[in-house]
Amino acid sequence: MACAHKSFPLTKARLQSLVQQHPTPFYLYDEAGIRQNARAILNAFSIFPRFKEHYAVKALPNPFILQILAQEGFGADCSSLPELLLAQQAGIHGEDVMFTSNETPAKEYKTALAMGAVINLDDFTHIAFLEQTARIPDLISCRYNPGPLKGGNAIIGKPEEAKYGFTREQILRAFPLLRDKGARRFALHTMVASNELNPEYHIETARILFELAVELWVKADIRLEFVNLGGGLGIPYTPEQQPVNYTYLAAGIRKAYDALIVPAGLDPLGIHTEWARAVTGPYGWLVARAIHRKHIYREYIGLDACMADLMRPALYGAYHHITIPGKEEAPCTETYDVVGSLCENNDKFAVQRKLPKIEAGESTGDFVVIHDAGAHGRAMGFNYNGKLRCGELLLGSDGALSLIRRKETLEDYFATLSAKPLPLCRGL
Ligand SMILES: *Cc1c(COP(=O)(O)O)cnc(C)c1O
Repeated sequence: MACAHKSFPLTKARLQSLVQQHPTPFYLYDEAGIRQNARAILNAFSIFPRFKEHYAVKALPNPFILQILAQEGFGADCSSLPELLLAQQAGIHGEDVMFTSNETPAKEYKTALAMGAVINLDDFTHIAFLEQTARIPDLISCRYNPGPLKGGNAIIGKPEEAKYGFTREQILRAFPLLRDKGARRFALHTMVASNELNPEYHIETARILFELAVELWVKADIRLEFVNLGGGLGIPYTPEQQPVNYTYLAAGIRKAYDALIVPAGLDPLGIHTEWARAVTGPYGWLVARAIHRKHIYREYIGLDACMADLMRPALYGAYHHITIPGKEEAPCTETYDVVGSLCENNDKFAVQRKLPKIEAGESTGDFVVIHDAGAHGRAMGFNYNGKLRCGELLLGSDGALSLIRRKETLEDYFATLSAKPLPLCRGL
């Protein structure tokens, strides 16, 4: 059986020379791919009078990547103080930053306000909280939870069971109250999808926001400046799946816009998004090496990476395609569980996966490339079992490789302990 194909930008020979300087495991990102994708998104959505994509920083919190996106005209979506600082470092400022947080501490609101970011409130009680701890800004956004109006998808679940956002009735009360408290510009946000490949789902989300925009105008005399459709655009993790067609998606949203927003006299209304996975996901890979082979009831390939480097397969049973550089054309004759070294049996990058025959060895083993790790990959890494998080390399548009984050060291691991060891409990 032939192996299904997914592309990886480096040859085995280039990897072999690369690891002399940067041993596996590491993440690799492709600048040219990210830029091309960003341009395709902007091109498709240029049919709207105003469009802005705020890349969700949590998915790949590296300012070098954020800077590339900023150069393409993207803003940032942040949910914490460190993420606000990352956006700032990447040169993303003012209203190009959405601050979509929940259970927000006062200090974070203050920083976001000082930076001129768009505050996106998660709850009705935060109107008073924001007013008391800081002030109500000129421009304010509220996060809408459509509850039973929206079916929900597999990963994110039903909106009714989600902790986020205002109910419809609260939204209708919130904006007039915010106006009474001095706000002059208004935006409406929702986030009801995760890794959703069906464009109709996203078009329906836009329609729900447009309907509420019209209702706010008619019932409360609130004219929105923009709606933010949130994130959740899916990517094809398996080789059989197809990417979302941006042109089709934009046209579908435009149709709803023409049916609802234009006749209500609300044109121009800004269309904002917070996609992350669809922006960088396909342009990042976790590169590891097969260091051990094990034959018991199943055949195992043990990697020098583990779920502390990429948690999605263990966390969601998510499929991540695997290729073996140099064996792209080899037949998939073997069935392996490809595993990491964590003391957790769910530390498996692939279960019963058809792959070419893999050679193992600490310096001679095959490279194992795990695809679609460019979003929610290293960012979800952790230190459990004393695992040190791996570094990040960028393949520049000019073909040069640069280290944009080094590996963690033992010194990093011990750095947060108090300087002096705890006194021993004598006499116990
Ligand atoms: C996680 C998140 C995103 C990005 O989600 P993707 O699925 O990566 O597009 C956008 N907005 C908010 C509020 C989020 O929590």
